[in-house]
Amino acid sequence: MISREEALRHVLTRVAPLAPVTVRVPAAAGRVLAEDVTASRPVPPFANTAMDGVAVRAADTSPGARLRLVGTVAAGATSEREVGPGEAMRIMTGAPLPPGADAVVKVELCFFAGAGTDELVTVGEGVPVGNHVRPVGDDIAAGSVVLTAGSLVTPGAVALLRTVGRVSVAVVPRPRVGVFSTGDELVEPPAELGPGQIYDSNRAALVALVNDAGGEAIDLGLVADDEAAIEAALLDGAARCDAVLTSGGVSMGDFDFVRTVLDRIGDMAWMQIAIKPAKPFAFGTIVVAGRPVPVFGLPGNPVSSMVSFELFARPGLRAMAGHRDVERTPVRATAGEDFRRRPDGKTHFARVVVSVDTEGGYVARSAGGQGSHHLAAMASANALAVVPDGDGVVAGAAIDVLLVEPVS
Ligand code: AMP
Ligand code: MG
Repeated sequence: MISREEALRHVLTRVAPLAPVTVRVPAAAGRVLAEDVTASRPVPPFANTAMDGVAVRAADTSPGARLRLVGTVAAGATSEREVGPGEAMRIMTGAPLPPGADAVVKVELCFFAGAGTDELVTVGEGVPVGNHVRPVGDDIAAGSVVLTAGSLVTPGAVALLRTVGRVSVAVVPRPRVGVFSTGDELVEPPAELGPGQIYDSNRAALVALVNDAGGEAIDLGLVADDEAAIEAALLDGAARCDAVLTSGGVSMGDFDFVRTVLDRIGDMAWMQIAIKPAKPFAFGTIVVAGRPVPVFGLPGNPVSSMVSFELFARPGLRAMAGHRDVERTPVRATAGEDFRRRPDGKTHFARVVVSVDTEGGYVARSAGGQGSHHLAAMASANALAVVPDGDGVVAGAAIDVLLVEPVS
C-alpha cells in the first residue's frame, strides 16, 4: 500500500493546467486567470464626492457658516463653473468635484434657505480639505497590476476587471471530464430492477462532483462489463474530453474489464492506497491523436468512488483548471462521539456531520453507517473526518475534518 500523499503526488506530477482561452468577463468567474491584468487609467478616474451634500472650499467652512449656492452637479454630469470664495454647489454621490471646491459637507449637516439665485446654505461644521472626497486613483493607480495570473476570478475580481474596462480576459478553461460507469448489474431509473440489479448511482454522483469541482462533466453513459464496449467508451471519452473518470471494474474480480482494457490501451499505475474507504485507485493516460488524456479509475463501491474523487480526482482536475490550492485544508474539530477503529495501517475517512457548538467551535459526529455502500450517511455528511491509524479518536479529542459542504 502507498500513502494518500504519494498517490496524490503521483496524480499531480502528471497533470498540467489546460491551455488558456479568452472569455467574456462575467463568464470568467470561478476560473483561474492566465494573464496579469493592468489598469490603463486610474480608478476613480476623477475626484468625486462620497456623499450627497454641498461642494465647498474647506477654508470657508465653520459651524454656522453661510455660503451662496451657485448650482448642482449630478452623478454623470460635470460643472464648468468654479466654486468661488463664499460659494457652495449641491453635489450628488459620485459626481465630480467642481473646480475651486476641495471638500464636501454632507447634506445631513446642511440647512438650506431661500431659492433660485438667492439660495443659501448654512453648514453645520467646519471641514478639512478632502472631506468626503474620493481622490483620483484612490482605489487603483494607473499602470498598476490589479490581478495576477494564477489568481481565482472571484465576484470581486469580476467587478475589478469591469472597473478597469475589460471586456474579456484569458483564463484556464474548465476541464471537460467524461464520466462513465461500468457494471452488468447496473440499470438506469426508471427501468424496473430485475433480479440482482441495482440502479447506477455513481455516474450521477460523479457528474455532480465534477461540476462542483469546477469541471464540465460529459456523461458518457452506462457501459456493460464488456471489453469492447469499455474500450470504445474510453477512446470516445478521451477524444472528446480533457480527462476521463471511470467507475467500477478496477478491482481483482473476474469481470473487472476496465483494468484489462486500460492496461492494454493506457499507461496506468494501479494503486492500493492506505486509506479506508477507496483503497483501489488507478491513474494514467491514454494517448489519442498525440494528446495524452488523464484517466482516473475510481472504485465501484458508491462511497469509495466519491471519496476517491474527493481525495485524488478533484485535486487533479483543479490542477488542470489552473488552481494553485488543489486540496482542501483540513480544519480542526472536536470529536462529538468516539470514533473507534482497529489498527490496519490505513487512515480512515469517516463520513461526519460537522456543526458549530455553543462555544463557536466545530464538532464532528458520525453521519451514520460507515460501510462503503452506505450512501444515506454519505448524503447527509458535510465532511470527512480523518481518523489516523490506531484505535481511533475518543469523544472530546481533536479530530481533523475535510469540509466538503458548508457547515450550517
Ligand atoms: P466493482 O468496483 O465494479 O467491483 O463494484 C464494487 C461494488 O460497487 C459492487 O457492489 C457494485 O455493484 C457497486 N457499484 C459499482 N458501480 C456502481 C455504480 N455505478 N452505482 C452503484 N453501485 C455500483
Ligand atoms: Mg463492477
